[in-house]
Amino acid sequence: MSAYNPYDNVVSTVRSAAGKLGLEESEYIELLYPERELKVAVPVRMDDGTVKVFEGYRVQHSTLRGPGKGGIRFHQHTDENEVKALAAWMTFKCAVVGIPYGGTKGGVTVDPTKLSRGEVERLTRRFTAAIAPIIGPEQDIPAPDVNTTGENMGWLADTYSALKGSWSPGVTTGKPQEIGGSLGRPEATGRGVMIATREILKKLNLPVEKQRVVVQGMGNVGSISAKLIHELGAKIIAVSDVSEGLYKEDGLDIPDILKFLSTRGNLLKDYQKDGVKHISNQEMLVLDTDVLVPAALSNQINKDNADKIKAKIIVEGANGPTTVEADEILNKKGVVVVPDILANAGGVTVSYFEWVQNLQFFYWEEEEINSRLNVIMCKAFESVYDIHKEKNVSLRESAYILALKKLAAVKKIRGVFP
Ligand code: NAD
Repeated sequence: MSAYNPYDNVVSTVRSAAGKLGLEESEYIELLYPERELKVAVPVRMDDGTVKVFEGYRVQHSTLRGPGKGGIRFHQHTDENEVKALAAWMTFKCAVVGIPYGGTKGGVTVDPTKLSRGEVERLTRRFTAAIAPIIGPEQDIPAPDVNTTGENMGWLADTYSALKGSWSPGVTTGKPQEIGGSLGRPEATGRGVMIATREILKKLNLPVEKQRVVVQGMGNVGSISAKLIHELGAKIIAVSDVSEGLYKEDGLDIPDILKFLSTRGNLLKDYQKDGVKHISNQEMLVLDTDVLVPAALSNQINKDNADKIKAKIIVEGANGPTTVEADEILNKKGVVVVPDILANAGGVTVSYFEWVQNLQFFYWEEEEINSRLNVIMCKAFESVYDIHKEKNVSLRESAYILALKKLAAVKKIRGVFP
């Protein structure tokens, strides 16, 4: 049996969207190949004095529309194909929301929960040194992703600046505020997911107060999505993390759960409250709900469970949570999927604001950031929805059509070197 390769997903989605757009292959073929892939060995001195070597990747899929932009994840299952797919999704995501970036991504194959804080710091710094020749504020700008946070970005910025010889905050986004991080950035992806949820409900004439919502993943994206969708007035009936899921038919107390999780190391399996049932992640995905927000890892909705999904709307907080086969099954069932490259684009949008602020050394108020984010997300949502109506294709294909149209236009002007 051949292993699942998410990059194959990207190629087939792009080819299909290019067909709907009537593009010649030569107008988009370069987008099927990452521009540059770097694989590095990352030796780390462990606390016990031994040395371990981890493998890391930085993939620059496209810099057609601007410098590369994409997070860095630390995960035991991260591999080259996953990072390639994640880099490509960034290219299309930045084009959908119209921010002047290409797409990149990085990752290290490691389970950071098994490392001490000091080991994680040394890993982050050595990985930064290994990819330093190809990153930079005008070249490729990392950000946090799965199992990385502002703390890692602080170490990254410090290491890169030490190597370069001058302070260079614009090399990364998602940094702590004290060193040039933007207000609103920690909440931005979840805020974007909330906006995408709000907008799709409006289009379908569904009152938000009547919606039951399930959120998979309670990290950066999932927790803020749950918080803000709860504040919109919807009922969050289930949430989960790597340990387990929580379920309450008449709605969970989201502020209380977030308070519980804010203590470092707390997992949902240890949350105990009357009336709250503990369920598995697989049970959670197929609950009877109106909206499902997958906000954990890729490949969660696949051919094995897509048929059992009862949600009417899926808003993809995670990158690549739905496989191509699952997408076909969901489409046939009439499930409306707001795709990742639109739904979770709030993070990269505010990362763009952070980078602009770093380059100008001029900082904006949070209100301005949130209001600009809302404008960009709503505009992108409308453009994708218009294509969906006009061409009678899924929202995912519509988002790819929108992105490809912009990318192909730039390619046409820039041409092929030499
Ligand atoms: P995170 O590390 O902060 O959180 C991940 C969450 O998923 C945690 O709650 C973890 O316990 C949970 N999880 C891990 N494995 C799981 C499993 N098998 N089943 C259920 N839950 C599981 O990561 P994040 O930054 O919130 O990223 C989540 C997703 O959103 C990823 O796909 C990421 O690429 C995507 N994303 C993140 C950002 C961002 O700004 N952080 C932006 C766009 C997209």
